[in-house]
Amino acid sequence: MLTTGKVILDVANEHRFAVPAFNISDYAMFNGIIEISEEKNAPVILGIHPDEVQHVGVDMIAAVTQRAHRSTVPIAIHWDHGANYDQILTAIHSGFTSVMIDGSMLPFKENVAISKKVVHAAHAVGLSVEGELGTIGMTDSQAEEGSDAIIYTDPEDALAFVESTGVDSLAVAIGTYHGIYPKTLKPELRLDLLKQIKDTISIPLVLHGGSNNPDDEVAEAVKLGINKINISSDIKVAYHMKMREVLADQSVREPLIIQPPCIEAMKVVAGQMIELFDTAGKASLY
Ligand SMILES: [Zn+2]
Repeated sequence: MLTTGKVILDVANEHRFAVPAFNISDYAMFNGIIEISEEKNAPVILGIHPDEVQHVGVDMIAAVTQRAHRSTVPIAIHWDHGANYDQILTAIHSGFTSVMIDGSMLPFKENVAISKKVVHAAHAVGLSVEGELGTIGMTDSQAEEGSDAIIYTDPEDALAFVESTGVDSLAVAIGTYHGIYPKTLKPELRLDLLKQIKDTISIPLVLHGGSNNPDDEVAEAVKLGINKINISSDIKVAYHMKMREVLADQSVREPLIIQPPCIEAMKVVAGQMIELFDTAGKASLY
């Protein structure tokens, strides 16, 4: 069924698992993500970034909503990295059930102000809100916004931020980058910091830039209290690697011939994430 991010994440927080937020900007990929989530009986969050909304067109959200309503697993439709208030109003208007306001590049006070304003509007109409404090890195120009250097989230600041904004979940910077890591950059999570943050604030915590981190570190982060992990690059790489292979045959032209093997390849990767995050079977908790 269609539900909010808060409903999905509060259960994940209580039972210590993480829900994948898969970025969607293609209809075939969307169907594949729903299929694998239902096969695994796993709750899922569909993350759509403003650039992706622009690519698919806001009218696609109506179809996504309709499919979510008749799904066997809980689904939230989440506006990823909302940059300003106007975008949040667009998200509310077009049927999203969850929004992120990303004021992480702003000074603390300004981040609080915009996040509070978004919480006020979103809560009034039943949507949940994710905020972000600290900055997540970015690896290349195709990655989502971030900075060259990570600014780690301070636990006391996080507490003040959550109390003054009323956000339902918080994205924290503990050592991840958006995108695919270059060979020179070694992914390393500050699990000690994550533990401190989790001991300080009680709302669900979110990890962005989860592609490429070692599986054991990610699994440990889930045990320590990460409840939502954004996955974008990993599923898109799997999908398009397979597509390059399929398109090597110059005679193919039909999407219904080209896309299915690519979807299958993407589903394998998405399924591994669902297992790694301990989300498989968890739809029965709702
Ligand atoms: Zn992100």
